[in-house]
Amino acid sequence: MGGGGGGEMRSIYRGSILRWFVGLIFVLLGGQTAVAQTLQLPFQGTWAALQGPPCPNSGNHHCSTPNQQFAYDFVAVAGFNHPVSCIGRPLFSPTGGQVVSALDMYPNYAVPNMHPAGNHVVIQRSPNEFILMAHFSPGTISVAVGQQVTAGQQVGLCGNSGQSTFPHLHIHMQPTVDVLNFGTPGMPMNFGPLSLWNGTACVPLASHLLRAGDHLC
Ligand SMILES: [Zn+2]
Repeated sequence: MGGGGGGEMRSIYRGSILRWFVGLIFVLLGGQTAVAQTLQLPFQGTWAALQGPPCPNSGNHHCSTPNQQFAYDFVAVAGFNHPVSCIGRPLFSPTGGQVVSALDMYPNYAVPNMHPAGNHVVIQRSPNEFILMAHFSPGTISVAVGQQVTAGQQVGLCGNSGQSTFPHLHIHMQPTVDVLNFGTPGMPMNFGPLSLWNGTACVPLASHLLRAGDHLC
């Protein structure tokens, strides 16, 4: 608003101090800007974030596991509110990077002694960014450990293997390679470009931190 030049200056000053402080925190955390990256959506068509940030949220089972605090459980949807089975739908790498883990040995429903992520891949995006994609259908993972992948490259087909009660894609990013290292806090994932249903229309967004309940269209 007009007037109050001094207030504007103080506001700018406070803003720059804040940016400096936030920047310092990021440097102290290892140089990661919290949501500076933009990742490609790992699917095509209409899906919804059944679970996702923010935590804490009593309805989000990820919140009790620090490395999954920004995790998503994406389900395919018909229309805008009806989850449908995603089994067999292609899933794509959200980033360029290297496959550092790949497991493809479980059926699509729970079995004893399974890995909680079931059939899964871990893609290393940078020295301290590792993305887990979990619950693939058996026999569908099309990348191997050591392989370089590009953003948008198909890595497998959606499924229900591991600890999964409904066919979905679990995806999260964390700073260490071991996805069973549950105690190390996970990292937010900014996806884009995408289109989000706002209740009346699909709104295109260049980049967005999705939240639980968001519908992609
Ligand atoms: Zn999950």
